[in-house]
Amino acid sequence: MEIYKGTATFPGIAIGKILLYQRSEYQIRRYLTGNIKKEQEDFTAARLLVQEQLLELYRQNKNIQEAHAGIFLEQAKLLEPGSFQRAVEGAISSEKVNAAYAVMTTRDELSNTFRNLEEPVIRRRIQNIQEISGRLIEALGGISPRIDLGDEPVILVTESLSPTELMEMGKEMLLAVVTHQGSAVSHSTIMAKTMGIPSLADMEIHAEWDGENAILDGYTGTLYFHPDAELQREYEMRQKSDMQEHEALLKLKNEKDCTLDGRMIGLYANTGSMDDLNSVLFYGASGIGLLRSEFQYLGRENYPRENELFLAYKKIAETMGNRPVVIRTADLGADKKADYLDIPDEANPIMGNRGIRLCLDRRYMFKAQLRAIYRASAFGNLKIMYPMITSEEELDEIEELISEVKAGLAEKNIPFRNIATGIMIETPAAVMMSRELARRVDFLSLGTNDLTQYTLAMDRQNPFLRKKYNDHHPAVLRMVRMVVEAGHQENCKVCICGELAADTALTEVFLRMGVDSLSVVPACILPVRKAIRETDLSTRHFA
Ligand code: PEP
Ligand code: MG
Repeated sequence: MEIYKGTATFPGIAIGKILLYQRSEYQIRRYLTGNIKKEQEDFTAARLLVQEQLLELYRQNKNIQEAHAGIFLEQAKLLEPGSFQRAVEGAISSEKVNAAYAVMTTRDELSNTFRNLEEPVIRRRIQNIQEISGRLIEALGGISPRIDLGDEPVILVTESLSPTELMEMGKEMLLAVVTHQGSAVSHSTIMAKTMGIPSLADMEIHAEWDGENAILDGYTGTLYFHPDAELQREYEMRQKSDMQEHEALLKLKNEKDCTLDGRMIGLYANTGSMDDLNSVLFYGASGIGLLRSEFQYLGRENYPRENELFLAYKKIAETMGNRPVVIRTADLGADKKADYLDIPDEANPIMGNRGIRLCLDRRYMFKAQLRAIYRASAFGNLKIMYPMITSEEELDEIEELISEVKAGLAEKNIPFRNIATGIMIETPAAVMMSRELARRVDFLSLGTNDLTQYTLAMDRQNPFLRKKYNDHHPAVLRMVRMVVEAGHQENCKVCICGELAADTALTEVFLRMGVDSLSVVPACILPVRKAIRETDLSTRHFA
């Protein structure tokens, strides 16, 4: 048996085989195109670009390694008009597929046809075709990070995992996630938590782990390989007792979120996809306190259309009935990207053009989302919330857009309600301005994940800072208190929707500060409810 230690990022036990995912195993997604001409043009542009790259490589290397540099010339020649180019263009027009997919299938067909030929010239040609195909696919941006988990339950082990990768994978077979990078508050970990999937980060990963039997202990951050029979039995029993504890908690499903001394607290769920709605209702949350609406923007080729957004919000509104649903407008940028969004690389994406900043730069996209939310408001109890706010000027711009959206809907006699508006307090600027901001909105919601990273000036995903990253830092807690006080002075309710809201070691602290509501991943509703119900705010507190 071998034992490896990482950092526990979400509790739970998983017993199963390891699937080691290495990024070179990218697959290319096939999609049907209505615009063959564009795909042909993209292919030609990619062909010329790669040809130029190869000629440049030849020029750079020919004086040092003439014999080896010749390969670049051979490859560049293959990209001239000829049989390879005709085969790819033929695949695009006959199958009406995207250029990257056509390159991949042409490559595979040629490789398979000549696979058994030993002739060195042909083998070299096939190898060259494989190499130029890789470059072409990369140039076409056709690489899709879709991870295939196979058909038996697995513990996924990977260097890092993006929210898009997690979104795109079929999750039925996902027992747990282990990463080298990432942290308890990185976006993909939060998504895994939202699905109730145990996870570890900070793990040294070894290639030979693939396919091995393992036990993951998401309480202690331990991964056991080739567990002996005794350990296996122990963990099976612990899994059972986890289930029993869970069953005991399930008795609280229909109980009130009320402290021992009778103060009612709002306990809401954080969700990141349509699949989470069932668990929101199952665990008896009072509503959705944070709907991370990015799910409709990630893992796809084009912008979602207004109607698609509207239908999803309508479904959520109807499913939740009278329960409030806080839709946070798209918080894209940083690590939440899709190719079609064409977000340029930034030196510091976490400090970059993300959240409301990006939306206000892309008004067409933003207005489509606002219209969809307003249209869906007629079907339930929707609220709207904006991420990454730093100033009142941003609110001015948003209000202007909202007026346009409402006027447009009224003109067409499309019904909508006046929606309560909130902002996320997740930048120190918003904390310092919270009184002024509170005057402009109906509620404030503390995003402690970002607030902590910006307050401490520590990237929430940086593995080197893991031991120094203190989310209980007095500066952060003092900010929470400041925001609650400022909000209440302006009659504004204050929620916490960052991961700290689920930290039961702080439940009493937050309730004593006067926090009105907490919004947590569905799997944490019941533990937090238990903590609320065990808190007595009538006793004096000497800490
Ligand atoms: C936060 O920053 O605390 C938050 C809830 O937003 P996200 O984690 O999606 O950035
Ligand atoms: Mg945030």
